Amino acid sequence: MTMPALTRRSALFAAAALPFAPALMPRAAHAAAEMMGAGMAPFNRFKLGGFEVTTLLAGTRALENPQETFGLNASPEEFAALSQANFIPADMSQNFFTPTVVNTGAELVLFDTGLAPEAITGALAAAGYTPDQIDVVVLTHMHGDHIGGIAGDAGVTFANARYVTGSVEHNHWAQAGNEGFDTKVRPLEDQMTFVEGGAAVATGITAMEAFGHSPGHMAYMLESDGQQLALIADAANHYVWSLQKPDWEVRFDMDKAAAAATRKQLFGMLAADRVPFVGYHMPFPGVGYVEAMDDGFRYVPVSYQMMLNA
Ligand SMILES: [Zn+2]
Repeated sequence: MTMPALTRRSALFAAAALPFAPALMPRAAHAAAEMMGAGMAPFNRFKLGGFEVTTLLAGTRALENPQETFGLNASPEEFAALSQANFIPADMSQNFFTPTVVNTGAELVLFDTGLAPEAITGALAAAGYTPDQIDVVVLTHMHGDHIGGIAGDAGVTFANARYVTGSVEHNHWAQAGNEGFDTKVRPLEDQMTFVEGGAAVATGITAMEAFGHSPGHMAYMLESDGQQLALIADAANHYVWSLQKPDWEVRFDMDKAAAAATRKQLFGMLAADRVPFVGYHMPFPGVGYVEAMDDGFRYVPVSYQMMLNA
């Protein structure tokens, strides 16, 4: 038997490993550690002036053939090239569902509720809140992944809450109806306040019209002690495709031209003012900035900026 010649590289590793070799021997009393599966903490909390803002992961799922959702009017070549330039595959994406809860010091305000009660109450529990602590539920728009958590088989999820939503959005769905709206939102209308763009939902929380994704889709601006954060909901639903190419048509945008115009206006403002934002479908924890580039925007996820607010 001949020994294989050591390369310089394997010789280095062999030498480095030698002093530790006895400790690396498996011991009979220890089983191999279990594989745990991929994981992620379901909440992320930071301060914004006198507010505490917590983003909640109320679900995540993979999506095949994302061009059919995010690039309806792009060529397959363009879609593939932009994806590759941003180190993401073109044939698969990952979607996130991220309600946000804001403690203003006076009220606990929840923005959107995920797909189902179990998901939002689970994420709230991880963040240290119970559903009956929620004072206000703000519904940015009436799609099922935003209203699904407000009620279920066990009844209403947030027993002590009042509700706020945009009047244009509400009026549209009151006429058109959809399954979630009819079963979950309509029964709560007596406890609902309807707002227009510019209205204050609570001190430091202002509604902003962001129509297009749905007829009366609303975004919100938070401001406390001079610090701002926008909650853009579904104004952009992918951090690369919808921000770098705001004109790329998105399957779920009900008025595609209006949605594109909203993206340019809203993110143009956030880029100019360097204001961070939470995007409901951005990669969790869903907080970032935008910089104007070419005919769109570059998404810059927050790193530690919000931790410095403490
Ligand atoms: Zn959505």
